[in-house]
Amino acid sequence: MKIQDIGNRTENTWCPGCGNFAILNSIKTVLKNLQEESTPLENVVLVSGIGCHGKIVDYLNVNSFYSIHGRATPVAEGIKLANQNLKVIGFAGDGDAYGEGIEHLIFAAKRNVDITMIIHNNRVYGLTTGQSSPTSPLGYKGRSTPKGSIEIPLNPLEVMLSSGATFLARGYSRNIELLKNIFKEAINHKGFALIDILQVCFTYYNMYEYYNKKVYELKEHNVEDYSEALKKIREWNYYNEKPIALGVFYKQKSVTFGDRIAGNRTKTQDTNSFIEQSLTKTI
Ligand code: SF4
Ligand code: MG
Repeated sequence: MKIQDIGNRTENTWCPGCGNFAILNSIKTVLKNLQEESTPLENVVLVSGIGCHGKIVDYLNVNSFYSIHGRATPVAEGIKLANQNLKVIGFAGDGDAYGEGIEHLIFAAKRNVDITMIIHNNRVYGLTTGQSSPTSPLGYKGRSTPKGSIEIPLNPLEVMLSSGATFLARGYSRNIELLKNIFKEAINHKGFALIDILQVCFTYYNMYEYYNKKVYELKEHNVEDYSEALKKIREWNYYNEKPIALGVFYKQKSVTFGDRIAGNRTKTQDTNSFIEQSLTKTI
């Protein structure tokens, strides 16, 4: 299938300037490359949650399942566990995945289910006109917090690292080349992968100028070192003024939930024992 055939003619209703376009274009290229290399598109299933991001599955000619708010992760888990031959890619928003759906992410990471979760983290509820979300910064002024949010934002990558995720990365909707590289690596990773994307909501929380000044790409970072990953993940806590690292923070081989179910436990180092060792070292 040509790249233009991976997309379709459904009218796109995202606002001009929305960061979702970068994610859509990047995933199209990656799906095309995967198809050419080893994964036919009929072996790919996309899952979306509810929010502006969810429309992404409408714009792609790929098998997909539109789930409900906060539930993209368990639906993706179920599809993968029912058929281990499928590549399952979930899309979710920050309000969706880090709010109502956070417990599902924690358990998918803990189990190391072999799925990829792509989080469109615009740090607001965009579809419902800009209310504060779990990653909105302290002081964020929106429809639900007209005097400024009084909550400290969640650092989702830190939560995911401590939960046992075996692939963690951050992308930015203005850096398409990096997005493509991260998507490909995450989808090919055997285990639970999560990509937190700073996806700018142009209409309700336009952070392009701010992010452009702050982001940098990780270089000479040891992705297998838990302590190093934790340090880099904590560097920017979603509201301080520190530089914002982009790229892969953590990548670890480990037994997947599917392997365990199939009774095919390999000799690969176990996630839990690895985390115990890493935490001991950190302490
Ligand atoms: Fe994109 Fe924000 Fe518009 Fe939604 S409201 S389509 S996230 S710019
Ligand atoms: Mg959002």
